[in-house]
Amino acid sequence: MKKLIFASNNAHKAKEIRALLGNIFEIITLREAGIEIDIPEPHATLEANASEKSTTIFRMTQTDCFSEDSGLEVAALNGEPGVRSARYAGDRASDEQNNELLLKKMEGVSKREARFRTVVSLILDGKEFLFEGTCEGNIALHPSGKDGFGYDPVFIPVGYQQTFAEIGLEEKSRISHRKKAIAKMNDFLQALQK
Ligand code: IMP
Repeated sequence: MKKLIFASNNAHKAKEIRALLGNIFEIITLREAGIEIDIPEPHATLEANASEKSTTIFRMTQTDCFSEDSGLEVAALNGEPGVRSARYAGDRASDEQNNELLLKKMEGVSKREARFRTVVSLILDGKEFLFEGTCEGNIALHPSGKDGFGYDPVFIPVGYQQTFAEIGLEEKSRISHRKKAIAKMNDFLQALQK
């Protein structure tokens, strides 16, 4: 089976992605590939950060690989926190601190539309392909729910009354931004097999 390096060490994401990609590729995390590297995410867009990760790994390994970068984009905040989602309230901020800052900035704001967005950068035979997945929703007035991570307790997806942290991981992974971006990459890879 052909190897595809996932430029991440997040075992949870790797598991989700393996389940989606079926058996056309063997998905290997950086650690499994013996690569010890912390790739910076210095750019102003998810696309540029995703590209940086996949091209760095491709240069090191000359092996097909992909990376992903995700963030929450709030319309009333001009797309914030965006690429800074993980460190919105500071470099070592916890999820709770990030959520607190976000809700503070949204105090008194009635326009609460937001979306999660994932960009996947795939490098196949040295060529890059980008795939995007989004999940539309609204920012809740208060955090609720215990599942998931990041902004899940304050994000209510369109068509639901509960936050991502309340609807359960199974339901979330059916409709999530990450799922949609990976599904597009999967369709692309499947089509190449035909
Ligand atoms: P990553 O690029 O997937 O590591 O995501 C960067 C940051 O975006 C995370 O640290 C979270 O703050 C936020 N984020 C991305 N995806 C999600 C999600 O599915 N739920 C909640 N927060 C997310």
